[in-house]
Amino acid sequence: MSRITKRAPGRASSRQSAPGAALPFARAGVVGPRLQALINSTNVAARIAGDPIELPHRYRDPLDIEVAALLSAALAYGRVDLFKPRLAALLKSLGAAPGAVARDRSSKQLLALCRGFSYRMTGPAEVAALLAGAGRLAREHGTLGAAFARMFQSAGEPTIRGALGLFVDALTTNDSGPTSRRLKHLLPHPARGSACKRLNLFLRWMVRGPDGVDFGLWRDIPAAALVIPLDTHVHRIAGLVGLTSRTDLSWRTAEEITSRLRALDPIDPVRFDFSLSHLGISGSCPSRRDESKCVGCPLRSICKHWS
Ligand code: SF4
Repeated sequence: MSRITKRAPGRASSRQSAPGAALPFARAGVVGPRLQALINSTNVAARIAGDPIELPHRYRDPLDIEVAALLSAALAYGRVDLFKPRLAALLKSLGAAPGAVARDRSSKQLLALCRGFSYRMTGPAEVAALLAGAGRLAREHGTLGAAFARMFQSAGEPTIRGALGLFVDALTTNDSGPTSRRLKHLLPHPARGSACKRLNLFLRWMVRGPDGVDFGLWRDIPAAALVIPLDTHVHRIAGLVGLTSRTDLSWRTAEEITSRLRALDPIDPVRFDFSLSHLGISGSCPSRRDESKCVGCPLRSICKHWS
C-alpha cells in the first residue's frame, strides 16, 4: 500500500503557496484521479528496496542523511543493480557519520577514503570533490538545507532552478582549477539546459514529505517549487498520458510536465514522480499496446495506446 500522500497540514507557511506556474491542462479532471490511482497501487516498501533512496534512509542525523542522499542521487545513473552496490560500499567506507566526515576531513583525507570507488564516468576524485563541496557548505551553514534555503531566497525565482544553479556552483567551487568534465557530469548545471534529473531527485528527497519515501528535511523550501526529476521512464509515460508532447530530456520538458502536474496538485506537484518512475523501472509499462501487461495498469484509460 502506498504511503505517498498529499502534503500534511501544519507545515511552514511558505509550503502552502504554489510559486510555479500551472499550464492550462484541459484533461486535469481525468488525468488526476488516474495518477492518484497509480500512487495508491504502488507497493512503496518493495519499490524502495530497489531505489537509491533506501541508502540515506539508513541514517538518522540530518547532515548524514543529506550527504548520503547527495551521493546516492548524484551517482544514480545507469542500472540501479550496478550503481547501488558501489554506492553502499562507498558509504561504508565513510563510516557511520558521512556528514561529519565530509564536514571535518581535509580534501586529501576525503580522497584517501574514496580511493576504492569507481563507477563508469565517476572515480575517487569526483566523489571526493563532491564530499569536499558538501563539507564546505556544512561548515559555512550547518546543514546543506540551510545553505540551499539561503540560495533559494537569494535567487528569488518561483521554482528551484536558480537556487539549484547556485548550489551546483557552490559544490563545484574549488581551489584546484576549473571543474573537470567528469564532475560536471556528476553535477550538471540547469543553466546549460540539462533536466538535472539526479539533482532534482535529491531535492525531491530533501523537500517533500516526510511520507515514507521522501524525507521532508528542508522545511523552508516549498514543495510547490520543485521540478520533476525527469528520466527516460517519466518522460515516456508522461508522453503516454498527455503531460507533454516534447521529445527532449531537457529542463524545459521537466518544467512543462511539472506545470501540468501543478494543475493536479498546486502544493505538491512532484508527489506523482515516485510512482511514475517506478512504473517504468519495474518493467511493468511496455510502452505499447500489450494486453498482458496493460490489463491492470491504473493509467490504461488515459494512455494513448488505449484511448
Ligand atoms: S496502459 Fe500499458 S502502455 Fe499505457 S501506461 Fe499503462 S502499462 Fe504503459
